[in-house]
Formats: sequence, structure tokens, C-alpha cells
Amino acid sequence: MKSVPFWTDDHPRPNHLPEEDLSGQTDVLVIGAGITGLTAARLLARAGIETVVAEARSIGEGASALNAGMAIYGLKADPTVVIDRFGERLGRELWDASNKAIDLIEQLVGEEAIACDFFRPGSAELGFTARDDRVLAAYARRTTEDLGFPIEYLPRDRLGEIVGSGRFSMALTEETSAGLHPAKYTFGLAGAAARAGARLVEHADVSAVEKTGGRFTVTTSRGRIQAGRILVTTNGYTGTLFPSIRRRIVPIGSYSIVTESLPVHLAEEVLPGNRMVWTARRFLNYFRRTPDNRVLIGGRRNLQTDLNLAETARDLRSRLVEFFPQLASFEVSHVWGGKLGAAFDLLPHIGQHDDVWYAMGYGGHGVALGTYLGSEVGKLMAGELDRSPFAEIAHPTRWYYQQRPWFLPLAAAAYRTLDRFGR
Ligand SMILES: Cc1cc2nc3c(=O)[nH]c(=O)nc-3n(C[C@H](O)[C@H](O)[C@H](O)COP(=O)(O)OP(=O)(O)OC[C@H]3O[C@@H](n4cnc5c(N)ncnc54)[C@H](O)[C@@H]3O)c2cc1C
Repeated sequence: MKSVPFWTDDHPRPNHLPEEDLSGQTDVLVIGAGITGLTAARLLARAGIETVVAEARSIGEGASALNAGMAIYGLKADPTVVIDRFGERLGRELWDASNKAIDLIEQLVGEEAIACDFFRPGSAELGFTARDDRVLAAYARRTTEDLGFPIEYLPRDRLGEIVGSGRFSMALTEETSAGLHPAKYTFGLAGAAARAGARLVEHADVSAVEKTGGRFTVTTSRGRIQAGRILVTTNGYTGTLFPSIRRRIVPIGSYSIVTESLPVHLAEEVLPGNRMVWTARRFLNYFRRTPDNRVLIGGRRNLQTDLNLAETARDLRSRLVEFFPQLASFEVSHVWGGKLGAAFDLLPHIGQHDDVWYAMGYGGHGVALGTYLGSEVGKLMAGELDRSPFAEIAHPTRWYYQQRPWFLPLAAAAYRTLDRFGR
């Protein structure tokens, strides 16, 4: 078993992506070369704005090239809660944007000819108990009737249409969600940003930013650059460079394994519709088929970002076999983990103060929402948009969160208890 992400092992950083040096000056410096930063950089460069992307490691080496590649509908926050909180107009706008995000990926992939195994099989959320049944059926009714977003309730006797497992009691399905190969997508976005004229600089860890005379001097491990504006797209990898951003984003670990390639008939038996699937739990598991017919399962037994990979692989494998005993004799070929970023209100945010902009906080929906907010923030900075709903909602922090998310083990214990009692 390899302790490296399956996706970049399958599709490493292409050599044709340009390798640039960092020097001189630029209009906009984007910090972080993931889905958000690259989508924004492409738009900024296309608008004729000089743009440099500084990435501490290599392109996509945050979460973007190693996630499960599930571009799923919705926000992490419940839409009813969002509408109650922000009112009908703004609440619906936030919800609608999250669903338009998948169309945006489809459009981008088409326009830029990004070959990333994009397809739209829809998604399924699987429940275990009679309570899941009630809660999820009510959710499906609300989204279908009140929001006009059709979600279908599937009883146990129809589960065979989406999952080859006796472990679940029901499912919710919808038809808009997509799957893609995250490494191919992220490197494809990098290629598109470079073609538009953005300069991509890897191994340039930004360690200091100072503003004097209306311009920023940015110090990185690869030298210095002057910039007119900064865009921070570091999501789960956000450090203490900008303390007020750091205090608004909580890094959370997520981990995945894949099996070796399965015989096609078995892959089809396990996930017949090839949907993007997850379980109805706080500590949820997500699973899908890879383009070469492995089964990927991910999740976490903790919120921590530094779990031991061998133990994590054992854990995830036992979940996999619990759900799909027919996979017991197949090897796990890869295990890996990374960090996603969540805000306290479970919503993504765009912020701006004194020419420092940021976009982040997708709570595990960053494939779709990172693309969408990257596009929104790029257009806002280019003057092509005059507002975004994600820039109009307050971005909360908590008095007890200064630098370290010391409270995560407590939150994890509470979530585990609620999950155990099916709440
Ligand atoms: C295992 C796993 C599975 C996931 N599965 C899914 C999924 O199926 N669907 C989904 O929607 N979401 C998923 N996510 C979340 C999703 O991957 C992220 O939300 C998304 O990639 C965020 O993209 P981003 O560009 O905002 O940030 P990232 O891709 O995390 O990029 C941030 C970048 O900033 C760089 N950086 C940080 N600090 C500095 C600095 N000081 N100087 C320079 N560079 C810096 C980092 O090196 C990093 O490359 C998953 C996450 C993980 C970890």
C-alpha cells in the first residue's frame, strides 16, 4: 500500500506546465495554487490584469489535486437554516449559487478542453436508521417543494439501483452532482490560468506581507515581489500570515483509501449508477468509483489533521468491508489525507480588507464551491461583478479561536456521541 494520493500517482503534475521564477512586481498576487486560486487567476489574467500565483508546495498539493473529485450540490449548511438566517432573497441566492457551481465546472471544462473524466451521474445520501428515514424524507420534501430542487426519496427495496450493500435503509438521490479526476482538473485549471497569462510560481512559501506606500512587499521562500493587491486562497492550509483570516477558518483533516482496480462487474455491483455517495452522519463516509474501477472511500474518525495513515487505512478498510463484504479479498492500494477548511457557520466566504482579498471555507464542498468562489472573487477584483452573495454575509469567528483549533477534539467527541445515538 502506498501512502500517497492515488490521483497524483495516477496523473502527476504534467511537465508542460510552465515553471516560473518569482521577482519584480505584479498587479495581483494570489497565494495558493488550488482550485480557488487557479480559477481566480485565470479570470484576472483574461481581464488583462497582471497576475502571479505563489504556491508553497507544488500546484494542487493542498487539497485540490487529492480530494475525492465529487462536485456535489448544495452547501455544507442546511438551506432552510441559511434562508431563515439571511432572509429569502440572500438565502436563496447562496443556495442557488452552490448548484450553479457544477454547471460552471462543466462550462469551464468544455471551454478550456480540460480532460478530467468529468461526468454527471448525480449523488446519493444513504441512511441507516428509522430516524434517518424521517429526517431525510423531510429534507427531500423541503428542497423539492420549497426550493424547487428535486431530491428523490428511495426506500430500501429500491436501494439496489444505487448501492450493492445490505447495510443501508434508504437513500436520497438527485441528478445534478458530478464526478471528476481532481488531479487532472486542477492541473487543467493551472494550464488554463497559464494560457491566459498568469505566472505560476511553485515552492514559494509566502512568509511575510508588508504594505508601504499603497503597495505590498511580499516575502517568499523564493524571493520577494511587489504587488498592488493580494488574494488569499489557502483554505485548509491557511497559516498565521493574516491572523484575522486564520481566526475565521478551521482546518479539518479528511482521509481516503482506494482499492486495487476491481473487475468491472464487481465495481458495477457495488455502485451500479456510478453516483457520488455519502452516508448521513456527522462523521460521514463518502465513496465513489474511480475511472479505472477502484472503489474510493473517505472520511475521518476524528477532525484532526495529523492522523496516522496506516491506522486510518485500517479504519477506512473496515468501514468499506462493513458496507461491501464482497470487497473483503481486495487490497487497498493507496492511503492519503489532506486538509479542508470550514467556517463556523458552515458557509464559504469572500472577504476584503485594505486590498487583501480572500475566498475560502467550503466545508468539504470545495470542488464545486472553490470553482464558484474563485470565479466570483476573480470577477469582483477585475471589476466584472459588483457584488457576490458570499461577500455580503458576515464571516464569524469565536473568541476562543486565536491560532490553534484546540477545541477540535471536544467537537469530535460531541459529534461521535450524536452519531452513536443517531442524532
Ligand atoms: C481527502 C479529501 C477529500 C476531499 N473530497 C472532496 C470532494 O470529494 N468534494 C469536494 O467538494 N471537496 C472535497 N474536499 C475538499 C476540497 O478538496 C477543498 O475544499 C478544495 O480543494 C479547496 O481548494 P482551494 O483551492 O481553496 O484550497 P487548496 O487546494 O487546499 O489550496 C490551498 C493552497 O494554499 C497553499 N498555501 C498555504 N499557505 C501558503 C503560503 N503561505 N504561501 C503559499 N502557498 C500557501 C497550500 O500549499 C495549498 O496548495 C476534500 C478534501 C480532502 C482533504
